[in-house]
Amino acid sequence: MKQRVGSGDMVNSLPQLHWLDVLGASSGSGLAKRRSWKVLREGAPIERHLGESGWFKSWMPVRIIGQPESGAVKHQLRSNRYLDDCEMVVLFPKVGKRATVCISSQVGCGVGCLFCATGTMGFKRNLSPEEMLEQVYLARALAHQEGRHLRNVVLMGMGEPLHNLDAVCRSIEFMVSDRGFGLRERHITVSTSGIPSAMLQLVKRFTSVRMALSLHSARADDRRRLMPKAPNDLSLLQETIHEINSLQGGEGEAAPVWIEYVLIDSWNDTDEDAEQLAEFCRGLRVEVNLIPLNGTVTSGQRALCATPKERQQRFADLLRGAGIKTTIRNSFGNDEQAACGQLVT
Ligand code: SF4
Repeated sequence: MKQRVGSGDMVNSLPQLHWLDVLGASSGSGLAKRRSWKVLREGAPIERHLGESGWFKSWMPVRIIGQPESGAVKHQLRSNRYLDDCEMVVLFPKVGKRATVCISSQVGCGVGCLFCATGTMGFKRNLSPEEMLEQVYLARALAHQEGRHLRNVVLMGMGEPLHNLDAVCRSIEFMVSDRGFGLRERHITVSTSGIPSAMLQLVKRFTSVRMALSLHSARADDRRRLMPKAPNDLSLLQETIHEINSLQGGEGEAAPVWIEYVLIDSWNDTDEDAEQLAEFCRGLRVEVNLIPLNGTVTSGQRALCATPKERQQRFADLLRGAGIKTTIRNSFGNDEQAACGQLVT
């Protein structure tokens, strides 16, 4: 990996972020600051504010890509500084008054998962806390325009968040601060390919933040093929989840760790795969999200396709039969728990 995971000491010694500094509104007159504050707190329509006091420091919106079937919307943003384009912000479809956004933590990703469009880009760069927070701000403003409020943030967009741990911690710090976005920790989910030490650091720092492990196979060899650069010690991952379960409370008191599992035809969807997955989950407080691959992905000479519907159902039934709470998620953008790496450039 090109990026090193930061140490706990570094996280603890980070200076407190101030929203005005974060969003570039600290300069200017008192009136400009007050106006920025009002806009930030209320999530007023962005058109009213873009270009006024420069809060939109990192990104320039390029285009909006709708998902007509699901109602989800992706926003392609261009970095003002690095001039790289990314589909960064995904606002999920309307479910009552609460909105969910999926944000990115890196441009590209170094984990290189075969089924993932982002993985094909390779790692480009880490995003700063400001760049992540501006994605949240954009989503708040868009939700506000629809008469909703942004409740949930999932870090499941581009990148491996725990390869950018310091910046992710700083952005979460601001998201949950009363002087920031005032979100609840338990409404923030961080998805990872599984970096045990960083998973524990994050949960020790933010005890209620929800962790999602992109597992995709409980067989070490198959997982290595699917996720070539992900840490692949499955026993250590089990121990890590067990420790997270302990840190996040006893049975019935706290949220489970999500296990994300993209179902790929003839790769990881046999009865034996389901049994291995059930075995992996045994004794852990986890819930499995099965995510049928979205479309067909070509990797080298091979085409990866979604598991047929009947097999999806059988896979889920086998897990449920083994006592594992399991949900089949619909395709990208149709649910807040969509797996990471489904953003394309
Ligand atoms: S699925 Fe997630 S971890 Fe894997 S390459 Fe894509 S963004 Fe990275």
